Amino acid sequence: MAGTMSQHGHFRVWRIAGLVSLAVLVAVGLWSVWHWQYTQAAREAERHAHNRLTLYSSSLQGALERFAYLPGLLAQQTLIQAALTDETRLLATQANDYLSLVAERSGAEAIFLMDAQGVTIAASNHAEDDSFLGHHYAFRPYFRDAMDNGIGEFFAIGSTTGRAGYFVSAAVDNPAGTGSQGVLALKVSLESLQESWRQAGENVLLTDANGVVILSSRPEWRYRRLGELSEQAMLEIREQRQFMDEPLDPLGERLRDGTLSIGNQGIGERYLTKPLELATLGWTMHYLVPVRPLYASARNALLVAAGGTLALLLLGLWLRERQKRQRLRDRESRIIREANERLEARVEERTRELREAQAELVQAGKLAALGTMAAGIAHELNQPLSGIRTYAANGERLLHRERTQAAEENFRRIQTLCERLGTLIRQLKLFARKGGAREPVELAARLDFVLELLEERIQRQGVTLHVTLPANVPHDTIRVAGDEVRIEQLLTNLLRNALDALRGVETPRLEITLDDEPRRWVITVADNGPGIDEATLERLFDPFYTTKAVGDGLGLGLFISYGIVQDLDGRITAGNREAGGAWFQVELPKAEGGPRHA
Ligand code: ADP
Repeated sequence: MAGTMSQHGHFRVWRIAGLVSLAVLVAVGLWSVWHWQYTQAAREAERHAHNRLTLYSSSLQGALERFAYLPGLLAQQTLIQAALTDETRLLATQANDYLSLVAERSGAEAIFLMDAQGVTIAASNHAEDDSFLGHHYAFRPYFRDAMDNGIGEFFAIGSTTGRAGYFVSAAVDNPAGTGSQGVLALKVSLESLQESWRQAGENVLLTDANGVVILSSRPEWRYRRLGELSEQAMLEIREQRQFMDEPLDPLGERLRDGTLSIGNQGIGERYLTKPLELATLGWTMHYLVPVRPLYASARNALLVAAGGTLALLLLGLWLRERQKRQRLRDRESRIIREANERLEARVEERTRELREAQAELVQAGKLAALGTMAAGIAHELNQPLSGIRTYAANGERLLHRERTQAAEENFRRIQTLCERLGTLIRQLKLFARKGGAREPVELAARLDFVLELLEERIQRQGVTLHVTLPANVPHDTIRVAGDEVRIEQLLTNLLRNALDALRGVETPRLEITLDDEPRRWVITVADNGPGIDEATLERLFDPFYTTKAVGDGLGLGLFISYGIVQDLDGRITAGNREAGGAWFQVELPKAEGGPRHA
């Protein structure tokens, strides 16, 4: 008992361990699917980002480079150089016109000329309200760089216009070659570029060297900073009034996984950032990939995988259940089969026992019948034989006395007794003739034949005969399987007995009916004789049972008839009619080919 318990316990432990490892396996598998899909989607997004960045950066570079040469070229112009030294300011007016023409042709937002103090003395937008003329730009790096190094570039929100732009500048040399006497600057608007990004519906940023967003496809992200700004840098920006009064708040928050979360209260959108450094001014272009679609795609893959796993699990469970049920069914059917086999074996055994018992009974019955028969035959033979012996002895004595007449009489009696013995032997022979042929025998024809043989007797006894054959059935189809002689014998026995019973009856009647029943023919022979008493009815078919006088009947007729009917698989019954008289009924199966009832 303890052994099976611990075995059961072991089984349980193994089962739980199996389930746990299956769960871990499934979890790890699902996580891998999630991770793989996420990585795959991120890689795809990064590739896309890289392509877009290349495209956008080259268009930006192109836009900037288009103007890069222009300030230097203009600074070489004598009109520009002369305008700086012209006390009368006449040339400045000319320069105004010239610069506005160049600006219009080149697409620059503004081109302006500053003197050595940074004061604008000529500008392409001289005619407009927010003209640069007279404005002081010495604080701008593009001025100072150009004065110091010959060229400068800068991105800033215009202090006059409030519009952001990229400034490129070149020093205007003194014709005498004594150094820079002013700066020619050109402002390029990048608004249209930004607008095209916005329209593409993508998240693109351009940050300067300090990490401040100077261009963005989303206007609300502009002038915010990515990362920290040093105090030094902040101070410089304020000094150069690069972004005017923009507060330069941080744009989102860098999370630990490197993603950038933009928005507030933590429900902001998260982005993967893909940077691309540009040659200009330490600028960096960023492409932002929203993380949510990546997660969504990973989640979808996870869902599909989980669904698949679940389906597999359910399939597995179902298969297991089916197998279990099948095993149960197999066991059940095996048990039933075994039980059946046992039962069959028992039935067979019982049948055999029964058959043996029956065989013994039959044997006993046969012996008994044989005994009765032997006694009957001995009795039947004995009587005529002793008669013959007596008549023969008498005859001899009479011959001695020469009473030949009387002796002849004795010899005649001997002959009669011999004939009787012959009849007995003939009947015994008939009885011995077992199992004759089985061919179709026409019942109606045999009945006719037998009636013809008995015609003389029927006439003599004045018997009224009624024969009823089935209507609607051709007589030659009323057939049974047997042999003619035995069927004639059967009919003769029944009719003879009836005629015997009608002896001495006042208005003797004999009724013969042939009925058509499903599968068999039924012959009824009925008379209006004295009928059969109880005791006789019981022994009617026994051999040598007769109520007739010695020499009238042997008591074999019905016994032989019974045997014949048995041989033909039929049935013979007898009884008394209510109106008086006896009936005998013989049922015989129809021969194949005869009419059959549904
Ligand atoms: P048997 O005719 O030689 O006597 P059976 O076996 O033919 O022998 O008949 C046996 C007995 O059945 C007859 O002795 C008779 O008593 C009785 N029996 C047969 N047929 C009839 C009948 N139609 N009416 C009355 N008794 C009958």
